[in-house]
Amino acid sequence: MIHESLETPIQGYYDAVVVGAGPAGCGAAIALGRSGMKTLILDRYNCLGGSWTTGFMNPLFDFKNKTGIVGELVSELKERNQFGGFGNMSFNYEYMKRILERKMQEANVEVLYNTTYSRTLVEQKRVYGIIAENISGRFAVMAKMIVDCTGDGNVAANAGCSFELGENGDYTACQAMTLMFLVGNIPEKYRNGLMLYEKLGAAYEKAGKQIPFKVPYLIPVPHSHFGVVQFTHMYDYDPLCAKALTEATMEGRAQIIDAFEFLKAYDEEFHDLELITSSAMLGVRESRRIIGEYYMTLDDILNGSRFHDPVARVTFNVDFHTKANKGQKCFNVKPYDIPMRALIPKGYDGIVVAGRCISGSREAMASYRVTGNCAQMGENAGYYIAKAIRDRVDIRDVRLNLVLTNDSIQD
Ligand SMILES: Cc1cc2nc3c(=O)[nH]c(=O)nc-3n(C[C@H](O)[C@H](O)[C@H](O)COP(=O)(O)OP(=O)(O)OC[C@H]3O[C@@H](n4cnc5c(N)ncnc54)[C@H](O)[C@@H]3O)c2cc1C
Repeated sequence: MIHESLETPIQGYYDAVVVGAGPAGCGAAIALGRSGMKTLILDRYNCLGGSWTTGFMNPLFDFKNKTGIVGELVSELKERNQFGGFGNMSFNYEYMKRILERKMQEANVEVLYNTTYSRTLVEQKRVYGIIAENISGRFAVMAKMIVDCTGDGNVAANAGCSFELGENGDYTACQAMTLMFLVGNIPEKYRNGLMLYEKLGAAYEKAGKQIPFKVPYLIPVPHSHFGVVQFTHMYDYDPLCAKALTEATMEGRAQIIDAFEFLKAYDEEFHDLELITSSAMLGVRESRRIIGEYYMTLDDILNGSRFHDPVARVTFNVDFHTKANKGQKCFNVKPYDIPMRALIPKGYDGIVVAGRCISGSREAMASYRVTGNCAQMGENAGYYIAKAIRDRVDIRDVRLNLVLTNDSIQD
């Protein structure tokens, strides 16, 4: 053990600090900024969007029944001819980054890239700031509300909030991880997408190798020759261990080279395919689920639960990437709402979580985890937080008449 004694400068005081700029963080920060809150958002990468952009996750699932920021993003991408293609819902990554940046600037949100959150400042279950590090050094920022949008619930866990992981703490039960990769020169006829199993399965068979995942997709970026492949599957890695994440990434990269070379070598249609790059962000489908004032159950998603404090309406069915290469376990939900209470860590003040790490069962998370829902819950959480700060009340007592569009459209 090294005992460090640190003097950490306080860099600023904010109404809200949003940690993590994925769909949930972007929704939250834009809503907070638009509500007049002095807001900072930070991310360890160099753009906004998280899984949407750094992660290459495409398409944008569960957007059709949503207005708000999700609706704005879709219509602005459409205006620029950068939305469509696969299932009529994939988008161009660079346009997504820039549109989010402009929205953040218009909402007067302060943005810090290349900045890694490292510690939560908490006293008697009240969070009052965080410590982060970047090229300028280590610093603290204080806020009336910290919004944990790290996907992994890092900020809440460090504060001491309770969480669940896998099956009773067994991380090997977590959904498989995937390293996404881009390919170019996609044959013209597949530029609206392709279920790749038939082709990849045959290529793996010819190469005498076992395929790691049986439901791979090629998801082209609209009006282009390139797209992302959702194929690699890594099982049994601990999502909370840096070494395991490194090993999973390396295994993913090896799977990418195999898949690319087999496809090119064994299928004439893909002779001209180019391997562009793998994502800088490993795709982790499942890690911490922070225990909140409400816990989303399997019954909630099967019975279409509604609440007095809704933040998102989910229509996306359960999509569970099972262990041991058994493909996906999918079943239908009845469109349901998520209450704000599922975003408030139980017994804690000064902190809200949004995105895939909110409070719920594994089955529920496997449905609400897609990006349209994360962005919508982040945005509406932002409105709850702004009202709590403005009215100086406990966020649990805030009542908002949010209108979530009523359509029950399944993507
Ligand atoms: C392989 C895979 C494929 C998927 N495909 C789709 C799909 O096609 N469509 C769809 O809609 N959804 C898809 N999903 C689900 C979806 O991408 C995620 O569940 C969703 O993006 C979660 O959003 P989030 O905002 O909670 O977290 P994220 O998008 O993960 O964003 C978290 C952000 O926090 C930042 N962060 C984390 N820790 C720190 C730290 N210590 N310091 C600073 N920043 C930090 C990260 O850099 C990141 O930008 C997929 C997921 C995976 C893994």
